[in-house]
Amino acid sequence: MLAQLVELEKEAQAALDAVADERALAGWYGAFLGRKGKITEAVKALGSLPREDRPAYGQRVNEAKRLLEAAHEARRAAIVQSAQDEALLADRVDVTLPGRLVLPGRLHPATRTLREICAVFADMGFQVYRSRHVENDEFNFGLLNMPPHHPARDMWSTFYTTRPGVILRTHTSPGQVHAMREYCPEPVRVVLPGMCYRYEQITARSEIMFNQVEGLAVGVGITMTDLKGTLVDFARRLFGVERKIRFRASYFPFTEPSAEVDMDCILCGGRGCRVCKNSGWLEILGCGMVHPVVLRNGGYDPAVFSGFAFGMGPERIAMLKYGIQDIRYFWGNDLRFLEQFG
Ligand SMILES: [Zn+2]
Repeated sequence: MLAQLVELEKEAQAALDAVADERALAGWYGAFLGRKGKITEAVKALGSLPREDRPAYGQRVNEAKRLLEAAHEARRAAIVQSAQDEALLADRVDVTLPGRLVLPGRLHPATRTLREICAVFADMGFQVYRSRHVENDEFNFGLLNMPPHHPARDMWSTFYTTRPGVILRTHTSPGQVHAMREYCPEPVRVVLPGMCYRYEQITARSEIMFNQVEGLAVGVGITMTDLKGTLVDFARRLFGVERKIRFRASYFPFTEPSAEVDMDCILCGGRGCRVCKNSGWLEILGCGMVHPVVLRNGGYDPAVFSGFAFGMGPERIAMLKYGIQDIRYFWGNDLRFLEQFG
């Protein structure tokens, strides 16, 4: 019996040495140490031996079982370790390689300037009011004090659609009437940003599409001094506290009186240069007191209410701010231009 046991031990050990993976190991365990395994059977055989042989055999068979269980455990650990090593090798990464560059997006310089302008007016209590890009003749012209055949209509070359009376807005001013009709009789303090469209020849100075920001304040007791204070403060917040501002009388159909606002040239400080055409001044926006007809069209009684309005082009402001010479860069989609702002 003991000789058989020694053979069995050798057989089990040899079989274990040949095991290469976890599945084969489980098979080996079943064959030798499982419920019906050969070693388990050998332990059970103890009961059938003559009494005097049992102590020696029992000690030997238990020893064999213990050793094989320890060997199984060691083999299992080795197999797990080698599987892990293989996985690590397969998934190896070179931590010394440079990372992949994440390219951040950025705002278009026109959008950026538009937001800067809106932020300055937001600080002064103006809300952003968005209105439609497609308008009808009445809102774009008529309600803004430009009836049909009014000569001021010549100032804007208009894109007409195939539907009579439906046009692309030539300015953000129709939004003034929308805002007044929405808020009347409450006071209004809004800025109206957005794209406008004009049928013009594209040159370094003019585009067929461009942004405008328009502002409108309507209430009781609003005067020209409020307009001047607001716009001087705006220019100084956007361009620096040392800026000088001047108002020049002008004409717009929807304001009375009307003015153009100039700022001392940010490039030459007023001494005169090519950008300011040696005048020392840069025109930044147009403004005026809301025309009584426009107030009435918005629903307000001009005998009680008054207001001011102003408008400017963010692309032109950006051109002044960054020294851009040609407005066509804005919609040319040239990354060499766009990547300079960020
Ligand atoms: Zn200048």
